[in-house]
Amino acid sequence: MKEGGLERISVNSAAFEAHRKRLAHLKGPQVLGAFGEATLELVDIWRREKNVEREVEVKSFLRSQRKKLLMFSETSIMSFSRFFEDIIASPAFAGRIRELVTDTPPEGDTPKIIIMRKFLSGELDDEVFEEMLRIHVENFKRKTAEFAQKLLEIKARFRSRALEAIASGYLPITVEELDRRMEATTVELCDSVENQFDDFDGDHNVETEHIRIGSHVPEAYWDHAITHESIHALSGRTVIHQSGERPRLGHQRLGVRFASAWADKKKARFRWLNEAITERITIDLLGESDGSYDTEREVLQGLIDRGIPREELYRAYFENYDAKAAVPIPAWKKLTETIKEIYPEGMREFVRLDEQMKKEVK
Ligand SMILES: [Zn+2]
Repeated sequence: MKEGGLERISVNSAAFEAHRKRLAHLKGPQVLGAFGEATLELVDIWRREKNVEREVEVKSFLRSQRKKLLMFSETSIMSFSRFFEDIIASPAFAGRIRELVTDTPPEGDTPKIIIMRKFLSGELDDEVFEEMLRIHVENFKRKTAEFAQKLLEIKARFRSRALEAIASGYLPITVEELDRRMEATTVELCDSVENQFDDFDGDHNVETEHIRIGSHVPEAYWDHAITHESIHALSGRTVIHQSGERPRLGHQRLGVRFASAWADKKKARFRWLNEAITERITIDLLGESDGSYDTEREVLQGLIDRGIPREELYRAYFENYDAKAAVPIPAWKKLTETIKEIYPEGMREFVRLDEQMKKEVK
């Protein structure tokens, strides 16, 4: 192959295994600590030194954390709001609320809004802000411990549901593939404030095989959020290998989402369809009646009603690229043939639907 050439490889190839080994150092905790955690650790070390100069640094460090939160109020309003939410609800902060919210508030103003306003106008003391940071870090540590405790149960439930769905023919994957992917995938809770998880509950990084669940997700929804991300983890892949001076691997396809391997995944083709299928499977596995991605799921149902068999969509979603086969992704090929039969303009019409969906949904 020529220098810098691109080639598609199978996920069960030696080249892919070697790539995974190279990424092994990224396994284990990847999530940054809670918002403010690293700052407070340093502050504590410096305070123990009882050095006057250090006191200046302590102040500037806490100030920079304030600035960061102030920035969230413009760039990531959910993160900004969530920071205050948990703290206001914490019994450890009840005394401070009584101190800070003294006047009878105007109608509709909650303690949270009043304290957020004080923060924005710079009226909040450094001391109070530091206390808030400490409560936030403690809250996150407590949630992380609860999450870790429940995770084994949740994973076991997911596995038994998936096994049932494989046995009934609903999930077109093998038990070996299920176990291999589950083993390779790590799951962690991450601080929604620090990671600016504004409009999603979790994510799955296909390159590092890592699932993050946002700390704002209520415990009752952990099953759902982890199931959704785990379905992404099980979905089929097409991997591209770039040879040459700086060899690298990237995922061109995950499920039915196609992207240039190293490009912004948000620009990918059929991302909405990929999410629709993922969420639909999640709902079916959990036996629930509703979930997220409503619009995407409605359009998916429209495709099925129009004559694209659900089974064909699922097979395309779960198939892995087979570099040795004459037809490396036969289920996707079959799906495109069905689309051509149903839509007068074939794939061109389907791509137009994708462009339209990109505008309608995020
Ligand atoms: Zn998803």
